[in-house]
Formats: sequence, structure tokens, C-alpha cells
Amino acid sequence: MRIPLAVPDLSGNEEAYVGRAIRSSWISSTGEYVTRFEREFAGLCGVRSTISVANGTAALHLALLAMDAGPGDEILVPSLTYVATANAVRYVGAEPVFVDVDPGTWCLDPAALARRITARTKGIVAVHLYGHPADMDAINEIAAAHRLWVIEDAAEAHLARYKGRVAGSLGRIATFSFYGNKIFTSGEGGAVAVDDPALERRLRILRGQGMDPERRYFFPVTGYNYRLTNVACAMLCAQFERRDDILDRRRRVFLRYRDRLEEIPGIGFQPVAPWAEPAPWLFCITVDPLTYGMTRDGLIAALEREGIETRPFFIPLHRLPPFERQSRERGEELPVTERLAGMGMNLPTYSQLTGEQVDRVASAIRSARDQGRERARR
Ligand SMILES: *Cc1c(COP(=O)(O)O)cnc(C)c1O
Repeated sequence: MRIPLAVPDLSGNEEAYVGRAIRSSWISSTGEYVTRFEREFAGLCGVRSTISVANGTAALHLALLAMDAGPGDEILVPSLTYVATANAVRYVGAEPVFVDVDPGTWCLDPAALARRITARTKGIVAVHLYGHPADMDAINEIAAAHRLWVIEDAAEAHLARYKGRVAGSLGRIATFSFYGNKIFTSGEGGAVAVDDPALERRLRILRGQGMDPERRYFFPVTGYNYRLTNVACAMLCAQFERRDDILDRRRRVFLRYRDRLEEIPGIGFQPVAPWAEPAPWLFCITVDPLTYGMTRDGLIAALEREGIETRPFFIPLHRLPPFERQSRERGEELPVTERLAGMGMNLPTYSQLTGEQVDRVASAIRSARDQGRERARR
């Protein structure tokens, strides 16, 4: 039996609510589930409002538009993240400037951030990588000193906590993704979280093709169709009803991996800062080839042969064709990003992964190492 990297948990009221949405005929972006989801998710994140959107990338695009990011602006982002973070910066005509991560959080390094600020810098997109919150107080402090805004990209960090506060309430605006492999999902989907009512209004107008909320079919600005359907919000309502169960199950997977892999030389783990309560997204390991006896890519291939799907860490964005030349011209050096990207990988993580399956993954990691060592000796 193959073990995939991620499987959504749709075992609650998902089907019932989707059926209800269909029977009600409210299948576009108005309906009871849109209203309910937006209200409930705002409550969970500790913000005044959340706005449902088509996906996490659209959420980032709207957040950047709401912050007036545009051509000529430099936006500081990590390079160790999903490509959407930097793509959205390009959508508004701005330039993503890549900043290294902190080895203690794997998120934006505040000291490195301060060094990349220029006269053109307008804002920061702080990504809570692999569920771990970025050091938002330090980041917000630097931002305030230089009059920059901060967007949180919380796509991977649903309900993570930073010093007791929930991810999504820690910057000016936060964005979420509900893609199928995220902790809570509607297949495709996203949200923007805000406290400021003026920003909320602006975001709602931009999401809905630019239509004036007081004057139907009048469009004062160029907007987008980034709305999310009532059907998708029906799934999200069902997902968040079971949030504690889904999070608990995933945390148990994390604990079991940790326990089973702890003793294997050369296998490392995602650090957890003292102030962080990370969201259990995808369990991460690092592979030190000298100690472990095999490279990360060798281990990925060995696990694939055993029917276990894993994933290497993100290829650093400053190494990708759309961003490489500009990054080189700016002389960016990101040693921590490069090191992690070369040795990190994600293991299968989902709420219905059984203890036996976790053990199977762990013993496959143990025996791959033994085979690797055997080969090295010959
Ligand atoms: C998943 C993800 C996104 C994009 O979300 P989509 O819903 O796939 O558009 C953005 N940022 C990060 C860090 C992500 O992991």
C-alpha cells in the first residue's frame, strides 16, 4: 500500500454541507457558508475580518494591492518558500528581494532583513514556513523603524501561535491557502485576514471585480474575480468544526515520527523557537549525508521504491529562472537557505496516517541508511 505525502481529511460534515449548498442552489460566491466561514475564521485567527478568496496566491495578490505595492518597489521575502510568495510580488510589478532565513526558525532572519532594506523597499512578506511562525515582533520592529508594512503568508501555518497570538493576527494583513495539501482545505481556496476596516473594504472591492459596494454594476477601480464559492466554504465550515481533532491527529503523527527517528544519526528536525506553537503541516527532516550515509535525494528515491511519497524542500526561489538573474545582480547570498534546501525533506503527514504507517516510514528511513552504508563500504 502506497503512502502519499498528503491526504485531506473529509470525514466530517464536508459531504453533508456541500450537498446542502447544492440543494440550496447557492453555488456561487454568496451564501450561508461564505458568511459563516468568514465570521468563524476571523474569530479563530483573532482578527476583525477574514475575506474568502479563490486561493492562497490570489490572497497574496490582493494583500499586496491593498498595501499599494507596485512597479519600482522592492518587497523583502524569504527565498525558502513556495513560489507563490514571489510570484504575487511580480503580479503587482514589484520586485521580490530575497532574504536568508534564521537557522533557529527556518523563517526570515531579522538581522539579514535589516541589511537588505534600500530606499525602494516598501514592505515585507513574512512566511511561516512549514507551520513554524516567523519572529514577528523582531520583524515588525524593523518594519516600523523603516516605515514598511508586513504581510504574513500563513498558508502553511493555520492556527499556529506566536507568543500566544494566532498566526494571521501578527502583521497588517495575513494570507491563507486552503489547497488540498494544507492542514485545512477546500481543494482550492484561500483567505485574507485584516483588522483595519478600511483595508477590509478595499480588499472586498478588489476581490469582486472592483464593484462599488454602494452602487451595483458600477466599477470605480480595476478589480479581480478572486471570490470563493459557497460550495468551497461549506467544506471549510466542516473542516474547522473538527479543527481540534484534525490538529491533534497530526500532532500525534509528528510526535511518533520524532520518537521513531530521534536515534538515527544524521537525521535532523525542524527547530521550534521557545515562543512558537507551530502548526503541524508537513513533518520535516534534514539529512546530513556524511553522518547518515546517503544524500537527501538518495533517501527520497529509496523511499519512493518502498511506495512512500516524500518531497524535497522548496528549491530556493533565487535559483529559479524567473528570479535568478536579478538575485545574482543584487549579489544575494543565502547560505542558510541553500544548506536547508539541499538537505531538507517532508515526510507523509495527514490526520488519517496510522501509527503503523508512521513506523513503516521510519523503518524505511532506518534501512535505507543501512543499505547506503553498505554500499559506501564496498
Ligand atoms: C500553498 C502556499 C501558497 C499558495 O497557495 P495556493 O492556494 O496554492 O495558491 C502561498 N504561500 C505558501 C507559503 C504556500 O505554502
